[in-house]
Amino acid sequence: MSSQVWVEKDLAHIWHPCSQMKDYETLPPIVIDHGKGSYLYDVDGNEYIDIISSWWCNLLGHCNPKINASVKKQLDTLEHVIFANLSHKPAITLAEELTKLLPKGLNKLHFNDNGSGAVECALKVAFQYQYQTGHPERQKFMCLTESYHGETMGALAVGSMDLFAKMYQPMLMETIHTEAPDCYRCPYNKTRETCECECFCHMEENFAKHSHELAAVIVEPIVQGCAGMRIYPPLYLKKLRALCDEYGVLLIADEIATGFGRTGKMFACDHAGITPDIMTISKALTAGYMPMSIMAVTDKIYDAFYADYFEYKAFMHSHTYAGNPLGCSAALATLDILQNDGVLAAAQDKAVFLHQALEDALGKHPNVGEIRHIGLINAIELVKDPATKEPLPSKARTGYQIYKKALDHGLLLRPLGDVLYFNPPLNTDNKTLEDAIDRTVESFKDVLGK
Ligand SMILES: *Cc1c(COP(=O)(O)O)cnc(C)c1O
Repeated sequence: MSSQVWVEKDLAHIWHPCSQMKDYETLPPIVIDHGKGSYLYDVDGNEYIDIISSWWCNLLGHCNPKINASVKKQLDTLEHVIFANLSHKPAITLAEELTKLLPKGLNKLHFNDNGSGAVECALKVAFQYQYQTGHPERQKFMCLTESYHGETMGALAVGSMDLFAKMYQPMLMETIHTEAPDCYRCPYNKTRETCECECFCHMEENFAKHSHELAAVIVEPIVQGCAGMRIYPPLYLKKLRALCDEYGVLLIADEIATGFGRTGKMFACDHAGITPDIMTISKALTAGYMPMSIMAVTDKIYDAFYADYFEYKAFMHSHTYAGNPLGCSAALATLDILQNDGVLAAAQDKAVFLHQALEDALGKHPNVGEIRHIGLINAIELVKDPATKEPLPSKARTGYQIYKKALDHGLLLRPLGDVLYFNPPLNTDNKTLEDAIDRTVESFKDVLGK
C-alpha cells in the first residue's frame, strides 16, 4: 500500500494528540514503518533522526536489542495481572533496583500507567497526607509559572501554560502560581556565575502569604521542559527544599521528563542533592517502550496512610494497568543498560561534544538567542534580535516552519514554540548528532534565509 493510502486511512479515523488536525492538510502524518537506534523509517523508506526521542521517552534507541529481549521473554511468561494483592517478580525486582537509584529516602513506589496519572496521585497523596496528619486546612497547591505537569484535570490545574490549560480554567481547582526563574531573560541581570537565585524572593513572598493553606508545591526540577527547556540552577531547588521544611509544605518533584540521565545525572534532583517528599517518574522509565509511571514517596508519607482498615486511611487509587509486567521488564532492562553498559558516563562526554558542535554551527546565527543545555538537552531559542532578546512574531510560527523543513531533511525536530531542541537517545552516536546539526542548519537556512 502506498504512503498516500495510509495517510488517507489515517485521516479518516484518527484524531492525533496535541495537533490542529487542519494543519494535516498541508503536513500529512508521516507513517512510520520501523525504527532502529536513533533513526525512524517511514513507509516510503525515508529516514529521520529522532532527535527528540519520540516525545522525550526513547532513552536508548528504537528496537534496542537488550530491551526487546527482556520484553519478549516477559511476554512468554506473564503479560498482565491485577496488581491489588497480587504481585510479580519484574515489579518486585524493579522496585528494589529503583529505590537504590532514587534520591535517598524515596523508599515506597506506587505504580501507574502514564505521567499525568502519577501527577494526579502525587496531588491526592499530598492532600490526604496533610488531612491525615492534622492539617485538613492545607488544601491548596503551588506551582511555577510556565510549568507543565500533564493534561488531566489535576495536572492541568498545576500547569500554567495557557496553550494547554486556559480553555479549561472553569473546570480546574484554584492553584497558586509563583513566578518561575527565567535565566535567559533574568530580571536581575545576573549570569549563571553571579546568580544567587534572587528570583526566589517570589517563592518566599508566596509562602509568607499562603503556606498555612498549602498542601504541597510541585515543580519540574532544573528543567521546565514544555516551557522551552528553561533551565534553572540547583540552588533554587535547595532553597525550595528548605522553605518547604520550614513551613510543613510537601515538595513534589515531577521528574517525568528529567529522570534517567536526561540532565547528565540519574535524576535532576541529584544536581541539588535533595530528596523531595514525592517524586513522579515516567517517560524514560521504560526507555519509551511501554506506558508506565511511578510515584515514589518517603517513609514519612507512606506511614501516614498505614493504619487499621477501619481508620480509612488507605490510598484508594488504582489504574487497571498499574505495575504491568511488560512495562516492568522494559524498565529493568533500561536500568541494566544505563548502569552496566556505561551509557550514563558516555552521555556526559557526548554532552560536551554535542553542545560544542551546536555552538560552532549555530551559536552566532543572527536569530539564535541562546543555546541552553544540560546533559544532552540543548535548546535553541530563536529571537528576532539576540541583542534585545525580542521574540519572533508568534504569528509567523517560525519553529513550526523549521520543523516542516527539517522533516524534508530527514530530521524530527518538533519545536516548543520558537525553541527548537535536541533531546536525543543517550546512546546516539556522535556522527548522527553531527548529521542532525547539519540538517538543522539546512532547515534554518530554508526558513530564516541564513
Ligand atoms: C510528559 C510530562 C507529563 C505527562 O506525562 P504523560 O505520560 O504525557 O501524561 C507530566 N510532567 C512532565 C514534566 C512531563 O514532561
